[in-house]
Amino acid sequence: MKALFLPICLCSLALADEASEAEQFSDTGRILPVFQDGKYSNPFPIDSSKVSQSRKINIFKLLFRTKSSNSKPDKLLPAQYADVKKAFPEKQNGLHITWLGHSSLLAQIDGVRILIDPVFTNEVSPVPLLRSVRRFQKEAPVSADELPFIDAVFISHDHYDHLSAETIIDLAPKVGYFLMPAGVGSRFKTWGIAPEKIREYTWWQEGTIQGKSSQTLRFVCTPARHRSGRSLFGGNTTLWASWVLIGSEHRLFYSGDTSYGLHFKQIGHHYGPFDVAIIENGQYNVMWPNSHLFPEEGVQANLDLHGKYMLPVHWGSFELSTHDWREPIERVTRAAKERGVLLLTPQIGETRSFW
Ligand SMILES: [Zn+2]
Repeated sequence: MKALFLPICLCSLALADEASEAEQFSDTGRILPVFQDGKYSNPFPIDSSKVSQSRKINIFKLLFRTKSSNSKPDKLLPAQYADVKKAFPEKQNGLHITWLGHSSLLAQIDGVRILIDPVFTNEVSPVPLLRSVRRFQKEAPVSADELPFIDAVFISHDHYDHLSAETIIDLAPKVGYFLMPAGVGSRFKTWGIAPEKIREYTWWQEGTIQGKSSQTLRFVCTPARHRSGRSLFGGNTTLWASWVLIGSEHRLFYSGDTSYGLHFKQIGHHYGPFDVAIIENGQYNVMWPNSHLFPEEGVQANLDLHGKYMLPVHWGSFELSTHDWREPIERVTRAAKERGVLLLTPQIGETRSFW
């Protein structure tokens, strides 16, 4: 059956001039973002056959194409309400991770409390009149009101399913810093967030924050291969990124949205191994192969990164592609078993702890 389907994850519209620039590396061989005429692009070599495939896409194919009849569940899925005391325990040691569905997470890393790409709204859509996408669950497993003081919020890029103005405004009074890729800060200023709370980074740039607990978290803004933008036209005026988070005893990696590339090996080489690698797994499509990881590529990324455990995210909450909603976790489970990768598959809202 044909259905009207606007891919609201604007990350899907991979029609522009990706890879038009030659690769760009630092003196030490690290990949760098290309910034030209006010726009960012992905610098490193990509599969040219995939690019030409992307360029052949007709926008009408994206708007009027066959959807899987199982691309979203036929009833609301269960989720736990996050137990904030477990997510942010008083004891300062340990790594505690709470997946909130899609790519939103709470984490406490050796005493420092953080949020990753928090989206607590029940719909994500840049153009609600055209199409809005509802959460597969009744509501997000936590609200801003229930959270304690958060030392830092890490943002990967400005797409709506990763950055909600409403959630950021609700969180702002109880957040120390908002840490984000270059250019995204202008959006925060528009929303009235105090400039002294906003910090922007480019790839490989490092920083530290001291948590309220007086513990320190070191972090690195690292590459991703994706896109950015919050409207159907233009885009790529702000950078996209992954993050390396280094506590006094534990290391965490978060992929953001990305397709596969040599950045994973570089990040693994310089900052691995990681106790947990949080890797996107879902909303992929053969029509936008340069925007997201296929599940088997995510498993390879975890091997490149030297992740002790892989936590697959970016699935289970919003329908942003045409695949069966269960397919990402089924495929990644098979691939992880074949490659000997240990998966973490918590229920949404559940906290996993490592000591
Ligand atoms: Zn995206």
